[in-house]
Amino acid sequence: MQIKAPRGTYDILPEEAVKWQWMEQIMKETAARFGYQEIRTPVFEHTELFQRGVGESTDIVTKEMYTFHDKSQRSLTLRPEGTASCTRALIEHSLYNGTLPIKWFYAGPMFRYDRPQTGRYRQFHQFGVEAFGSRSPFLDAEVLFLLVEILQGMGLSEYELHLNSVGCPLCREQYRQKLIDHMAPVKDKLCKDCQVRYLQNPLRVLDCKEATCHQAIINYPTLIDNLCDDCRTHYGMVQQTLKDNGIEFVHDNNLVRGLDYYTNTAFEVHIPGIGAQSAVGGGGRYDGLVESIGGPSLPGIGFALGMERLLLAVDKLGCVSRAQQTVDVFLAVMQENLENQAASLLYKLRQQGLSADKDYNQRSGRAQMKLADKLGAKYVILLGEDEIKGNFVTVRDMKSKEQWKIDNEGLIPFLHECLDNR
Ligand SMILES: [Zn+2]
Ligand SMILES: [Zn+2]
Repeated sequence: MQIKAPRGTYDILPEEAVKWQWMEQIMKETAARFGYQEIRTPVFEHTELFQRGVGESTDIVTKEMYTFHDKSQRSLTLRPEGTASCTRALIEHSLYNGTLPIKWFYAGPMFRYDRPQTGRYRQFHQFGVEAFGSRSPFLDAEVLFLLVEILQGMGLSEYELHLNSVGCPLCREQYRQKLIDHMAPVKDKLCKDCQVRYLQNPLRVLDCKEATCHQAIINYPTLIDNLCDDCRTHYGMVQQTLKDNGIEFVHDNNLVRGLDYYTNTAFEVHIPGIGAQSAVGGGGRYDGLVESIGGPSLPGIGFALGMERLLLAVDKLGCVSRAQQTVDVFLAVMQENLENQAASLLYKLRQQGLSADKDYNQRSGRAQMKLADKLGAKYVILLGEDEIKGNFVTVRDMKSKEQWKIDNEGLIPFLHECLDNR
């Protein structure tokens, strides 16, 4: 039987991989410009980390985790997201004792046992940032500037930024009671899940995917109208800073996060025009997370972007032309008995910093030129009997079709000069 990639996974073939490199380059370069450094954490962690760090009651933890026991019967889980691992690393290395804030970015595969569909996989990729150790609303704004800068770097300027504040434990507690009071009389109209959770966690009803739940609780009291003074001031400053810098956003009352450690700013970014699943990422402040994973009380904020979704958006909206991978030089060998010299010359070109390639299947001269074209070679070096005897090579410019005879010693400087002048 033919072995195929497991359901929900896929190969990134070289032609696609070029796009990934392009995207990652933009993300890493932008994050670096904003003062964020890369962190790489393991792809699996103790299951307990995600139970505490993502939340015991979330869909991710209850339904979607890849959990397994290793040979020593430890319960391990393939990471379903990046924030819990970053927080664990921060605590494990006591980095909260150092200079704050700590500003990190990460990129890599995540794993969720979910029903695969367009743009959604069981092994998928996220780019994310986390900033620990400051409550400043200007840090919230910085994180949003960074997010927007990445989208614009990828040519995705038609984004929609949704923004809300989820308050703090203080104002949320009062709000919670107001919501429960609002929902209790209509609880029979809620879906099964919501009938159970509205008492413990009424915010999650606002998050429910069932339209009937939203109809049932219409005109519910909004969190924004029930924020405490500190939270209202914080949200106002974030909004003002975005406005001052020309970043458009919409306030979205339905954008809530049902977990206690989320505080203040919450956001989501959509790209209309890529289909029903228009959300490409989101994030927010999580001032209670570090503590809930066993660390000190330390505020934090971050976001994650779905990399598959972003590439889908770039493909669909066609707003940018990406550079294709090409080679500087193709070495065309005109006679089989010259393969020895050709191998040495090719190695030398590569050592000197040129990208270079050749044929390995005894193609004819014409077929080699075709191959050079296919590889996007800028120059072709022709190596034949005359060349070997005369201690020179023939260099052809693939665009202008101009041709030169260059002696062996002058070849590398000549090629470097040609490439610099293009
Ligand atoms: Zn508050
Ligand atoms: Zn519901």
